[in-house]
Amino acid sequence: MEISPFNLQEQQLTNEYLQYADEMLAVRKNLLGYPANEDSGMSGFYNWYIQSGLADSLMNNAGDCYAPSHFDLSSHRYECKVIDYFADLLQFAEDYWGLIGTGGTDGNNHGVYFGKKILWERTGELPIVYTSAEAHYSNMRLADLQGLQVKRIPADAEGRMDVASFAKALAPNKPALVIYAIGTTFKGAMDDVAALEEIIRQKSVKNIYRHFDAALFGGYLPFTRCKDLVSQKLWHYDSLAISGHKFFGIDEPCCVFVCRKEVFDAQQNSNIPYLESSMPMISCSRSALTPLKMYWLLKTKGWYYYARLALVCIKNAEYLHKELLKLKWPAWRNNASNIVYFKRPAEEIMHKYSLAKDCDKRLGGNLAHIVVMPHVKQPLLERFLKDLAKEIVGQER
Ligand SMILES: *Cc1c(COP(=O)(O)O)cnc(C)c1O
Repeated sequence: MEISPFNLQEQQLTNEYLQYADEMLAVRKNLLGYPANEDSGMSGFYNWYIQSGLADSLMNNAGDCYAPSHFDLSSHRYECKVIDYFADLLQFAEDYWGLIGTGGTDGNNHGVYFGKKILWERTGELPIVYTSAEAHYSNMRLADLQGLQVKRIPADAEGRMDVASFAKALAPNKPALVIYAIGTTFKGAMDDVAALEEIIRQKSVKNIYRHFDAALFGGYLPFTRCKDLVSQKLWHYDSLAISGHKFFGIDEPCCVFVCRKEVFDAQQNSNIPYLESSMPMISCSRSALTPLKMYWLLKTKGWYYYARLALVCIKNAEYLHKELLKLKWPAWRNNASNIVYFKRPAEEIMHKYSLAKDCDKRLGGNLAHIVVMPHVKQPLLERFLKDLAKEIVGQER
């Protein structure tokens, strides 16, 4: 039988990839340190994708999903449905606009950019960016890239922006772009928005843009009793970003960005003739696959599934925190958070469970954390706790 060289290569590569997959799945088995939901469950989607024939073609979501487009090989209609779903979850009290982007960083980039442009338009001045020292590093980098002055406000030991320091730093006569950390990456701390807003009110800062960086927490909070913490109706934020691969477990990095329609309308872009729609987003080409995946998950899993999942993550985080304290191992967990941070264990454990590192002198120095994602179930936590207990016995000997 004659074998074409291409088929041969594909077969060889398949074998190589299978070995590679085994290696990756071995890492996945113990993954505790990162805010990624490893229970993606996208096989059904991929079956459809292959069967439909679309797996052998290219689609592209360039342009605004709400605007009429002449490039119809897109999933814009599903992108709109996903944005609508999130606007509803987030209790948007006014008209909104949104996009599905490449990750939380991309969502924050749109927040900073849209904020900068609308404040510039209103005042002719560039805003000062305020963000906590424990907010995700992307916010600092994005503000830097966009040429904005940043005031990095110290955080308290729990990881929240320090209110007194914010009061001291806030310039009353300058436009302000405040990035609220709704779940910091390491400690899972939520900035005290009510207290910080009170400072803004007292100082009567007139031109202000509020962006919620809710990469992880924005995924599960809307399904819990704490849903008001990300309510647009309540906090009147201008924009918010959520990562799709974190709580929801989309199998590739992506984000949902939603903003007030007024913010979108202020973006003043000249129409780009060949797309016949406005191009306010930063990237031109965007994935058409991601909105299809998101809609697939939201629809096939359903609201009750995510509500239960959110609850299980919080319960498991509570369990882990309690067990660590039983072992007399210094450990902390913030309100409504699925992140438990604690004194850093030995390197062997850090490596085995892919734990991330941080350091805070106020909490005794070296720290590690576990992000209790949907794939982090009791048996895995018990395995980790057993390993830690062994380390403690070893130390006592
Ligand atoms: C993960 C995270 C980000 C970055 O999101 P990516 O999807 O990794 O780009 C931003 N902010 C917070 C709070 C995060 O947890």
